[in-house]
Amino acid sequence: MKIKHAEIVISAVKPEQYPIEPLLPEIALAGRSNVGKSSLINMLVNMRKLARTSSSPGKTQTINFYRINQQFHFVDLPGYGYAKVSKSSKEAWGKMMETYLTTRKNLYEVFQLVDIRHEPTQQDKHMYSWIKSFGFNGIVIATKLDKISRGQRQKHLSMIRKELQMTSEDILIPVSAETREGKEQLWEVILEVFRV
Ligand code: GDP
Repeated sequence: MKIKHAEIVISAVKPEQYPIEPLLPEIALAGRSNVGKSSLINMLVNMRKLARTSSSPGKTQTINFYRINQQFHFVDLPGYGYAKVSKSSKEAWGKMMETYLTTRKNLYEVFQLVDIRHEPTQQDKHMYSWIKSFGFNGIVIATKLDKISRGQRQKHLSMIRKELQMTSEDILIPVSAETREGKEQLWEVILEVFRV
């Protein structure tokens, strides 16, 4: 995929701020804080700092819209799983996610990110079944592939499939933002989603 242009459109906190003109097709990325969402977006568009990355989780809860080649949006959904978050901000997170996931007409697919090193958390499992309950396929991206050895890969991927109760048809793509391994395969899946 040749990236000619990529920019942030808005960090939205309410639906009125979601981009509408033009209403481009979009893919949203969900996952716990620190799973590697920003790094993945930067890797996909070959930019170091389009999406903000940080080693400290618990950034502001916003829905970030990135416009790519004036053709589509990548949408960075607010991360979850940060222990120090108050009950009220967890509720705000839930409302924000539900509003976006249920009302956004141009949302083609939601990709769920999980860290390839670890068993999916309870929240990962909930997120994944939530995504499916809204009618999305729920494509899973296993991040930080460079952090495990080649010999461990199959074992970890099978573990993720099992824990998330994925079927053999469900797509699971391992990627590394560090080495860029898996990037082309992921682009193929993204373009396939927009082709439908
Ligand atoms: P986000 O909170 O989901 O947006 O996560 P970030 O993209 O900010 O990444 C969190 C941390 O994980 C940062 O320190 C990144 O450098 C690191 N990270 C992200 N992706 C990878 C990867 O593929 N490999 C390695 N080794 N580190 C990664």
